[in-house]
Amino acid sequence: MADILLPPGTSPADFRSFLKSCEAVVGAEWVKFSVQDVAPYGHVAMPFDDDDHMPSAAVCPSSIEEVKAVVAIASRLRVPLWPTSTGRNIGYGSSSVADRGTVVLDLRRMNRISDFDPELGTVVVEPGVTYHQLQEFIRTTGHDFWLDFPGPGPIVSPIGNTLERGHGVTPYGDHFAHSCGFEVLLSDGTVFRTGLGGVADTTSWQAFRYGYGPTLDGIFTQSNFGIVTKMGLWLMPAPKAHKTVIAHWPDPSDIVRLTDAVRGLRLDGTIQTEGVLGNAGIFLAATRRKAEVYDGQGAIPQELAIAELKKMGLGAWNYVFTLYGRPDRVESDWQEAKARLEAAGATLIPDAKDEQQINELTLKSFALFNWIGGGGLTWCAPVAPMRGADMQRQLELAQSITDRHGVDFMVGTAFGERAALNVMPLIYDRGDTEQMARVRACYVELVDAMAAAGFGMYRTSVGFMDQVASLHGKANLDINRRIKRALDPSGIIAPGKSGIRI
Ligand code: ADP
Repeated sequence: MADILLPPGTSPADFRSFLKSCEAVVGAEWVKFSVQDVAPYGHVAMPFDDDDHMPSAAVCPSSIEEVKAVVAIASRLRVPLWPTSTGRNIGYGSSSVADRGTVVLDLRRMNRISDFDPELGTVVVEPGVTYHQLQEFIRTTGHDFWLDFPGPGPIVSPIGNTLERGHGVTPYGDHFAHSCGFEVLLSDGTVFRTGLGGVADTTSWQAFRYGYGPTLDGIFTQSNFGIVTKMGLWLMPAPKAHKTVIAHWPDPSDIVRLTDAVRGLRLDGTIQTEGVLGNAGIFLAATRRKAEVYDGQGAIPQELAIAELKKMGLGAWNYVFTLYGRPDRVESDWQEAKARLEAAGATLIPDAKDEQQINELTLKSFALFNWIGGGGLTWCAPVAPMRGADMQRQLELAQSITDRHGVDFMVGTAFGERAALNVMPLIYDRGDTEQMARVRACYVELVDAMAAAGFGMYRTSVGFMDQVASLHGKANLDINRRIKRALDPSGIIAPGKSGIRI
């Protein structure tokens, strides 16, 4: 144990005692504390050394009883725990921790699926259930429901992604909005259920999200107030028909008219999905390697990226969306979308394919890692209101900063109805410390510049949580701290998550 990392504020004797007690609960093989066993938990794609956010150990319980016992030991010995579901929050910190030395509570072994209700289209999952596992489960029932998943779909979990308020690209793309009922464990051992889950023999836990009194689900997302041990989620009935379309525009300035046109189609329900709007940079990175198309220094010039996209029959902006419903509805939505998007200057490719938008699990999103190589990627995700002028202002500001830092400008936008999440991968080679430092400085500047321009972030990685939290004002920080002190007075759960500490 001589050279092992300690959790913050924990003595070597208490840490030894913690590990021993945990071994007695979960079995020695499920308590990892050697440098070699812990290293994968601290391996990140975000622009920090692995060591900066390295946990000291990982404990892997397989049931709620085991989780409760581990949390009791941690509370007694004041050892902080960082819960993860599948721990693959790649580009946002994976399974690393905000405060170095925090112990990962790896819930991957808790992977039961229960309470499937084919009439209501609902199901309950534990943290370790992956989208792939859930899809296979639904297949075995013989019912036809679709799932909505994020980019790395097959290998990540509905709970992890929903707690981060992640998004996908079907009509159920807002994952938190399609969750229904959490079971939560607090650091004092209390287990409770949100919504109508507290009613004895509840019939409606997965049917009605709001329950009675304050609706609490939201305070357990992007937070460290409790450990979510179960979650209900709604399943989308497979549509009778669907049609995937790519609309593309030739010029960066087209962002104004395209945003205004798409907003209208989203607000009146013609387009039911967020889809994805990609600039030339992100489309290029999804299919090519940088070295094949650009041998200069710094960021690839946008004109070059656009010229490459034109060769592929695409444009400066490329919006991939799917229409869903009965065949007659899909046809009439298509006619309407076509007329309005063409009027806004789009060229349309009517029969495209996007696996993620039609319930097909794929690992294609990982292709971005091939652009430069070396495993570095971090997501900077500012929110813009869905007005053309605001989108242009935000994206031009972002590009002026990425250009200056020599970072390739890429953006994949999720179009809500009123907000656009402009998710920008900053890609770099982790083997190149100068590049990593540049990406980190670029990210810090992006966050500050966005805030100065009135834009907030949708989500961030463990390396930048304090910075992002600090931009939301003192009252906001205080209220989170007061809730934290009430629900987790010793600060056992995920210190530093979203910048919240006791
Ligand atoms: P995924 O692998 O599904 O993308 P993760 O398991 O990496 O997601 O979780 C992302 C983040 O969400 C974690 O770092 C943690 O902050 C939070 N989180 C995940 N699972 C839980 C949980 N069961 N309870 C509380 N917080 C969680």
